[in-house]
Amino acid sequence: MLYSVRMRAAQGGAHEAGGRHISGAERITGGEDIAKTAAAMLERALTHSRGQADFINIQVEAVAAQQVHYVPLLPIHTFAVDGYEAGRQQALSLLAECGVSQEAARAGMASLLALPDSMRGAMLLCAETGRRLDGQGMRGVRVSRMDSADPVGYHGFLTDLGLAGEHAREAMVLAAKVAAAPGVLAELCWSDDPDYTAGYVAFRQGYMRISQLKPTGSPQGGRVFFLQPGTPLAELEEYLTSCPVLVRHSE
Ligand code: AMP
Repeated sequence: MLYSVRMRAAQGGAHEAGGRHISGAERITGGEDIAKTAAAMLERALTHSRGQADFINIQVEAVAAQQVHYVPLLPIHTFAVDGYEAGRQQALSLLAECGVSQEAARAGMASLLALPDSMRGAMLLCAETGRRLDGQGMRGVRVSRMDSADPVGYHGFLTDLGLAGEHAREAMVLAAKVAAAPGVLAELCWSDDPDYTAGYVAFRQGYMRISQLKPTGSPQGGRVFFLQPGTPLAELEEYLTSCPVLVRHSE
């Protein structure tokens, strides 16, 4: 049996009571690893660089093996840029290559830059008009129930690429689940961790890592998913939040 282990932490009370999002994590593990996984999440919630959490929720749920979908890890490409302005230009041209209109790509970037604080989830935007579609405000849509199908092998694979950090590990799993979603054309992300300035544009053909997408020290970050016009939202949100997905890498 597999188990989905999820953590969300906030400051100033629970998220649903207006608390400020501090940290979250998603794993799928075997029964023997639940305690270890939950303990690592607790430690992470209590020591996050975004601040001291006073609300921590850890949820463990069984996942039936036949419910699990398998998706491939996206091919990884790195763009080394000279600064965050160049990084953002690179992101805009990658989004254009995926079929996101210039208007929508600029709206997505502006939405990230306008965030007053971190969201717990992602914003869903129309890839043609740039209009926000999810109606979830600062909550956004949180992608849940995903992990690597082979965490040990995946760690080794990423270490060989010089990408063994927690950020890249988790982001590539999330991006693989999102890129396989019905109707998602592309994703734009940079972290809200003040010390982590890299980000990416992801779509089915690849995870385009951009070495800098924000200035060092900035706590502002988030995720935007660009949707093909006409994408059925309820179906997409169900897949993103609830469908258990394991990501396979190939050596
Ligand atoms: P991180 O990459 O963990 O620094 O997260 C950066 C931002 O991405 C967060 O502030 C959220 O807005 C968003 N985010 C993080 N995790 C998820 C998730 N599981 N699903 C959707 N959005 C997320």
